[in-house]
Amino acid sequence: MSADNQPSVPEPNSRAEPKGVGGDPRELNDDVTEPPGKIWFRDLDEAVIEADRCIQCASCVAACPSDSIGIDEEEQRPTLVKMCTGCSRCWDFCPRSGLRYERHLELTAEERALDDPETYAARASGDAAAAGQDGGAVTALLAELIESGELDGAVVARESDADPLRGEPFLATSREDLLEAGGSIYNQTMGLGRIDDLLADEGLDPAETDLALVGPPCVIQGATALDRYDHEPADPIALTVALMCTRSFEHGRLVSHLERFDVDPERVDKLDIAEGVLRASDDDGETLLEADVDEFGAAGLRGCEECADFVGAAADISAGNVGTEDRETTVVVRTETGRAAWTAAADGLEVTEIDRPETLERLADWNRRRAESTLPREYDPEESIGITYEDHREAYDGTDREPQPLNPARVHQYEEWC
Ligand SMILES: Cc1cc2nc3c(=O)[nH]c(=O)nc-3n(C[C@H](O)[C@H](O)[C@H](O)COP(=O)(O)OP(=O)(O)OC[C@H]3O[C@@H](n4cnc5c(N)ncnc54)[C@H](O)[C@@H]3O)c2cc1C
Ligand code: SF4
Ligand code: SF4
Repeated sequence: MSADNQPSVPEPNSRAEPKGVGGDPRELNDDVTEPPGKIWFRDLDEAVIEADRCIQCASCVAACPSDSIGIDEEEQRPTLVKMCTGCSRCWDFCPRSGLRYERHLELTAEERALDDPETYAARASGDAAAAGQDGGAVTALLAELIESGELDGAVVARESDADPLRGEPFLATSREDLLEAGGSIYNQTMGLGRIDDLLADEGLDPAETDLALVGPPCVIQGATALDRYDHEPADPIALTVALMCTRSFEHGRLVSHLERFDVDPERVDKLDIAEGVLRASDDDGETLLEADVDEFGAAGLRGCEECADFVGAAADISAGNVGTEDRETTVVVRTETGRAAWTAAADGLEVTEIDRPETLERLADWNRRRAESTLPREYDPEESIGITYEDHREAYDGTDREPQPLNPARVHQYEEWC
């Protein structure tokens, strides 16, 4: 059944009873909205994935209580793998549909942020410096925390052996693992939706494991929203680290763009984006390409244009390169959890506390303005956190981001399971 055909009297809400305060975004404290009845994964598919607005954050995969949503490895998108119960949670936690992410960021900051977030210019003091994208601070931080027993592992990304420049999620449990995974991967890995599998592969029990989750801000939005509403898959996450971000690329399109510039992706050892320039270099550090990053605009995920969270405002710690020197990482420590982790990792880092760089503020401001001008709905951090299906349709229908019909190749799944 599509949402167009929803009954006028809402069906009983089939989601699991909330365990924590608030339970789900649509029932949260400040501004309750009536559950509009069942929303099925097919509704999310039409409104977000087929509409080419999915940012591959995998929040829907992690939110699904019946594990009905899997990941299509080929297309790097969520897909139905068994019966959908219409519980609506995928919709509720998707930052491109039911979750008003800016409200979530606001509430998370009110609840968790330090009065004065701390900003640092940091670089790894040991072997992590060479492995990292910028100062290697994220690698050093995680390595110290794992070696001291504060964390059991970290969900990070590493390059696929089979496919140049394609990132895949990786559960690092040692310094060596982290050194191998250092550097930025400019496509999404959907690691949030794979945490259970990654733990199972290592024989780790989620209830007894403390992990760091690393990823672009939207991934941290999903994880912290799930945590906020006390949903189990996020339970092993003890620390969140956001990589500051203005866009992520679709892997296939990124590779074609490089080829258009006569760059063989197999030869690219490192990609870097700083100050508006995309630079590709080989494993001798030789530059293969330097181009205005806007030339790669069409390789970016279109859903990124609706994102206003450059800094990763829900994360315990954010890391980027903006506003600090070459081979340094700009680090923002935002919560008590982040501060405790940062302090515990001090031995592996050379750190200078700095004022929040103006360039960081400028980029964050640019990012917010881009989102405000792209979002068909209003960008409003004070509005209700849950966006109903009906409100979404009202805002998006008739725009170039409106829901699109299901891919005919997938219709059989829906006939069977939705
Ligand atoms: C898509 C993307 C866009 C970015 N855009 C900007 C930008 O516009 N401005 C800016 O200042 N900074 C940006 N960054 C952040 C920057 O590239 C560095 O990640 C950051 O400065 C930390 O550097 P580091 O040397 O301390 O990290 P490292 O020591 O290299 O550690 C980074 C860790 O993050 C993991 N990781 C890398 N990519 C991913 C990924 N896609 N998903 C999950 N884990 C991952 C690695 O496996 C590694 O463990 C971006 C990062 C990404 C992934
Ligand atoms: S944006 Fe994230 S939550 Fe929404 S459909 Fe895509 S992967 Fe799922
Ligand atoms: S720009 Fe925003 S939506 Fe896109 S990958 Fe980065 S954090 Fe996610």
